[in-house]
Amino acid sequence: MAYDTDNIFAKILRGEIPCDKIYEDDWVLAFNDIAPAAPVHVLVIPKGAYVSMDDFTATASDAEIVGFYKAVGKVARDLSLVEPGYRTLNNTGVHGGQEVPHFHVHIFGGKPLGPMLTRSSFR
Ligand code: 5GP
Repeated sequence: MAYDTDNIFAKILRGEIPCDKIYEDDWVLAFNDIAPAAPVHVLVIPKGAYVSMDDFTATASDAEIVGFYKAVGKVARDLSLVEPGYRTLNNTGVHGGQEVPHFHVHIFGGKPLGPMLTRSSFR
């Protein structure tokens, strides 16, 4: 699947539409999800143009992959999620339920999340 430069996260990266930014470095942008499924729901996206987890892990450089995952851990740490605990999630492709075709990892936290997570669990 070719990368769609008009996807919503590409527009956020280019500053064409706003986001509620949590963190940014050379490798990633992290921002609050527009429709949170938990009290803390942050999306971490690489600055590079990767469609999915598959694309990212197959074609990104080692530096990008390390930079990305170190940033995911840092964001969770900076949000004080480590001690109470948190969940990371990636959706890939149709069966994975991926909506936005720019690779991203969700960070969920702020309450006990249970064995699974749905939108209705945000209460
Ligand atoms: P996916 O299903 O692709 O793993 O998740 C995409 C996520 O992006 C969803 O949780 C959705 O709420 C979020 N999202 C979609 N459009 C926007 C947007 O314009 N801004 C922000 N902050 N999040 C968005």
